[in-house]
Amino acid sequence: MTPPDDAPVSAALFDRALAVSPGGVNSPVRAFKAVGGTPRFFVEGHGPYLVDADGKDYVDLVSSWGPLLLGHAHPAVVEAVREQAGKGTSYGAPNPRELELAEEIVARIGPVEQVRLVSSGTEATMSAIRLARAATARDAIIKFSGHYHGHSDSLLADAGSGVATLGIPGTPGVTRGAAADTVVVPYNDLAAVEAAFAALDGQVACVITEAAAGNMGVVPPEPGFTAGLREVCDRYGALLVSDEVMTGFRASATGWYGIEGVRPDLMTFGKVMGGGFPAAAFGGPAEVMSLLAPSGPVYQAGTLSGNPVATAAGLATLRAADDDAYAALGHAATTVARLASDALAAEGVAHRVQTAGTMFSIFFTAEQVVDYDGARGQQAWRYPAFFHSMLDAGVYLPPSAFEAWFLSAAHDDAALERVADALPAAAKAAAAAEAPDA
Ligand SMILES: *Cc1c(COP(=O)(O)O)cnc(C)c1O
Repeated sequence: MTPPDDAPVSAALFDRALAVSPGGVNSPVRAFKAVGGTPRFFVEGHGPYLVDADGKDYVDLVSSWGPLLLGHAHPAVVEAVREQAGKGTSYGAPNPRELELAEEIVARIGPVEQVRLVSSGTEATMSAIRLARAATARDAIIKFSGHYHGHSDSLLADAGSGVATLGIPGTPGVTRGAAADTVVVPYNDLAAVEAAFAALDGQVACVITEAAAGNMGVVPPEPGFTAGLREVCDRYGALLVSDEVMTGFRASATGWYGIEGVRPDLMTFGKVMGGGFPAAAFGGPAEVMSLLAPSGPVYQAGTLSGNPVATAAGLATLRAADDDAYAALGHAATTVARLASDALAAEGVAHRVQTAGTMFSIFFTAEQVVDYDGARGQQAWRYPAFFHSMLDAGVYLPPSAFEAWFLSAAHDDAALERVADALPAAAKAAAAAEAPDA
């Protein structure tokens, strides 16, 4: 069982939150349902550290689920936000920052000639799907089991992230119509993709895929899989939509595209490009993007799209994310993955480290995980004990066994040392965890 928490201020805040918010949170995984105990309320973040409302600090291995590539309160980001906020926070009209951020994305990501900025990854994928449907005049989309593309109706089917963490089978409130146009197939299974295309002959608008899956834990595409998707999409006249909301500007400076080099039609971004603010984007060839209003007929809009403060934070983040920053991130991620693996191996806990560029996660299984069934087959029941041992020792892990661990360029030797010191006891706790009765 989970040990008692020593976080009275967080516990009191959570009680209040439960009265005014469903489940006490504004995004489900934050509620600690999968690990038990009191969700921590945080009041400060600096570099690799978070400070909770009880005054305890933690090495943060969540990094806001990916955005904080440079760590918390990076001076360049804070300064850019301060400066822009002092000049106004929203104009509802074009501003130079959004143009510069668009130019930065276009310059970095080869297949993207034009981008439209939005406020969340959910909006980016939802809008990319609408655009793909308009471009092909078809309705059906193919997605992969365990992939998460935000919470728009047509993309929630068999999704990863909180849907995976909480084991939600299907979501009430999604119409049969929305679900019927979404065909879900197993990841890394080209034969299943072929079969879906054949069954839906002529009706598939697009295949949407996480460039490298990171919302069921990290599961990269097998060699040849993405290229195979490209080929089958071309053969059937469907678009390939690569969701790089998580991997973009994180797996590498040029995301997963930069690692694998298979050219999608549309791409989506979020997380890192907002620098900790709500900013996301979708983009692709000018020919397709120009179907969007006002140059074309496909409607898409947003009161805060291209918000000057959010785009200033994103720009400052991308500009500070140089080779040194990615090298530091890579070193920190490799170090933590190795330390965790060594600690688990020392206790005889079956596990696998899986990586996609600088992203990684750890599965409690001896088998390589290539799809959602494999991810769900892990001994997730070992995770709560592991998590709480780390939490007690001042290391904040994702409160779910189905999420990536996110490091930053700010995770220095002192932070890594604390993680190293915490791991042996956590591995012992994972080894001692008992399987629930079957
Ligand atoms: C986080 C994520 C999203 C959703 O982004 P939000 O900003 O949370 O709406 C979509 N796709 C992927 C791959 C993600 O990791």
